[in-house]
Amino acid sequence: MEKKVIITAALAGSGVFKNQNPAVPYTPAEFAEEAHRAYKSGAAMVHVHAREPESGLPTSNVEAVRAVYDAIKQKTPELIVQITSSVGRTFEDRMAPIIALRPESASLNTNTMNFSYLDRKTGQIVFDSVFTNTFTMLQDFGKKMEELGVKPEIEIYDVGGLDNWLLISKQGFFSEPYNFDFVWSVVGGQKFRPIIFASLVQMLPPNSNFTTCGVGIDQFPAITQSCLLGGHMRVGLEDNIRLPNGELAKGSWEQVEWAVKIAACLGREPATPDEARKILGLRKAADSKK
Ligand SMILES: [Zn+2]
Repeated sequence: MEKKVIITAALAGSGVFKNQNPAVPYTPAEFAEEAHRAYKSGAAMVHVHAREPESGLPTSNVEAVRAVYDAIKQKTPELIVQITSSVGRTFEDRMAPIIALRPESASLNTNTMNFSYLDRKTGQIVFDSVFTNTFTMLQDFGKKMEELGVKPEIEIYDVGGLDNWLLISKQGFFSEPYNFDFVWSVVGGQKFRPIIFASLVQMLPPNSNFTTCGVGIDQFPAITQSCLLGGHMRVGLEDNIRLPNGELAKGSWEQVEWAVKIAACLGREPATPDEARKILGLRKAADSKK
């Protein structure tokens, strides 16, 4: 088993706001501070959805994303900054910041699915939406990222998503190693089940890495299993606003501290960003060029 474990901090996401946890960053300065603290706590990578600084609404506006990206890189040049490709209505909107900034890594989503919010106790629908990722989009996002030298992190929300990727990858444009992220407990995806996780890992092609993230209370059980299976760990306020004891996290960095403790119990230690680059096969990106 790889001794080093790559810890990623997903700082904001698109669906959590300051009224749920005041530590959710909106401004470039807040992102830079959160990213730096996560790095100091043991994270090698941050996963970023930029926000409009005033309203906190998610944005794929290139200048807004650039401001966040540059602020993080300026304060912590060592960190790997991964940008989401999920924000925006069209392929062009979603891809624009990635083309402009050429980060080292970006997320690549693998299936069209319900992506909603239901009351988990009563089943009542609070917010209903569909996340569109057709085969054509999976192909076009993947090809463009590979062409730019931006390593895709392949987001797997259920076994069908993995099958979609396995099929499209037959075209041969994805470079090794393949980096997967198993996402648990999105409403519309699959709920965290340890036995399913173990099965999914066995379905991965050779020369694959995997990390995992779980929504809400599944965050820490999922990363613990990932660490145990030789995978990596993603935490952050995007996925969960709390700590294992139920208290609000003071920031993604506080969840990183817990991930480091879990890893230590399992005989693993946090990878530095350069160690993570080597494991994941990333090129090293400089600051963005205007
Ligand atoms: Zn995300």
